[in-house]
Amino acid sequence: MHEMGIAQELVRIALEALPRDLKDPKVASLNLRIGKLSSVVPHSLTFCFEIITKDTPLEHARLDIERVPVVIRCDTCGRQWEADTPVFRCPDCENGQVQMISGREIDIDSLTLME
Ligand SMILES: [Zn+2]
Repeated sequence: MHEMGIAQELVRIALEALPRDLKDPKVASLNLRIGKLSSVVPHSLTFCFEIITKDTPLEHARLDIERVPVVIRCDTCGRQWEADTPVFRCPDCENGQVQMISGREIDIDSLTLME
């Protein structure tokens, strides 16, 4: 289950991002942006997250996961579109150099502290 490694990494980053001057910080929610092609299963990630955040400021934090669509751009004609799978060819100019500009990310977008 590779979600465990991802959860550990996210928790490490989130803990580092906590303000140092707070005495007993508690995180209400962690807002993630996860690309549809990142092969992360959200409920597995949530499950791992709950296990490893026990007794940390992230315990009981809610994971808000925003699925980021796969966006492809053609460098040749500038066309940009959403896809469900990786695409290697532009439907307009066929020979176009295409690149995926989103869809694989696993990022922390923001973190909300409890009042
Ligand atoms: Zn094109």
